[in-house]
Amino acid sequence: MPVSVAALKERAPGEKRVALVPEVVATLVSNGLTVMIESGAGEHAFYSDDDYKKAGAKMVSAAEALKATIVLSVNRPPTATIAKFKKGQFLIGQLRSLVEAEDLENAARRGVTVITLDRLPREVSRAQTMDVLSSQASVAGYRAVVAAAEAYTRYFPMMMTAAGTARPAKVLVLGAGVAGLQAIGSARRLGAQVSGYDIRAAAREEILSMGAQFLEMGSVSATGKGGYARALTKEETAKQQKELSQQIAKFDIVITTANVPGRKPPVLVTKETVAAMAPGSVIVDTASGPFGGNVEGSVSGERIVTKNRVTIIGSHIFAAQMPSAASNAFAKNMSAVLDSIIKEGQIVIDPSDEVITAMLVSVTKKGAAK
Ligand code: NAD
Repeated sequence: MPVSVAALKERAPGEKRVALVPEVVATLVSNGLTVMIESGAGEHAFYSDDDYKKAGAKMVSAAEALKATIVLSVNRPPTATIAKFKKGQFLIGQLRSLVEAEDLENAARRGVTVITLDRLPREVSRAQTMDVLSSQASVAGYRAVVAAAEAYTRYFPMMMTAAGTARPAKVLVLGAGVAGLQAIGSARRLGAQVSGYDIRAAAREEILSMGAQFLEMGSVSATGKGGYARALTKEETAKQQKELSQQIAKFDIVITTANVPGRKPPVLVTKETVAAMAPGSVIVDTASGPFGGNVEGSVSGERIVTKNRVTIIGSHIFAAQMPSAASNAFAKNMSAVLDSIIKEGQIVIDPSDEVITAMLVSVTKKGAAK
């Protein structure tokens, strides 16, 4: 029997992405897989049920989709949905296992193979085609700049007209990983004067190579495991916030993208710092979510105007605001994962495959999973 793969309709509030797009469905079908898509799953990304059918997919109910051998999901499905997975099935997606893993561990204990892309070993070059963290962060970085430009009531580029000259916007990007570097590039393409900052030593060169200035701050350097940042101590955080507060008021727009894997996002911009910014300034907090954000007072999914008339835009799923581009990239990443585990029509988890094994939520001993 051909391996069956299904994509679920996403149910998280504000989520508009879908794990498979028609173009990728057509490739999977031509590779001999049976593909099922939950009806309406692509609606918000402008992929209709008809588009999927033309690509060779079967449109099914949620209950039918959950019978597929491999079930793909952008986000972690709700607890009740995960509870329906049976032994021998696979659940694959960006399942946030670093934040809370209980549902996934329970599924693994029942014999479900859970592959979570937030554990992808990104330093392995073969993993790059599967890297949903990068593909989605890149969309988010771009989208954050578009949101900032839309909320800002002046020009990004320098404008010289018969009615006078407008100076370019000064943009500061805090956190220069994938999203931050994409934000720097996008803000520069719009003509802004851009500065960037990060605590990883390697980020300085990357910021400069994008043609932006590096915001010099004496205090903290904090490269951690796997090339990521480590969490700062309380003292380091206080020092960083103080130093940033002395710099941020010079900028018209601040875009924050700082994260530490599996931890709450660090607070970089305090209420006092926001209060010192000029009216009309804009802050976009891409780290804003249920666990806080980089900016005190930012609310996920909301646009707030403070008393001193600074606009704060908070969202932790900016990628979902460009669902077509984000889903397209996500689906291609999923296709690369499937290529790694399906050999000649059979699912094979090779224990020597360092990329796939790193992403498995596995049960190590009775009652414990990692
Ligand atoms: P991320 O989303 O976890 O964090 C975003 C950025 O926030 C990081 O650059 C981090 O250093 C920064 N940050 C954290 N705490 C901060 C603080 N207190 N102040 C300022 N900045 C802070 O990271 P990401 O974008 O997913 O990726 C980060 C790392 O992963 C980088 O080293 C990147 O080069 C690496 N990476 C490697 C590959 C690869 O090897 N193929 C692919 C993608 C990313």
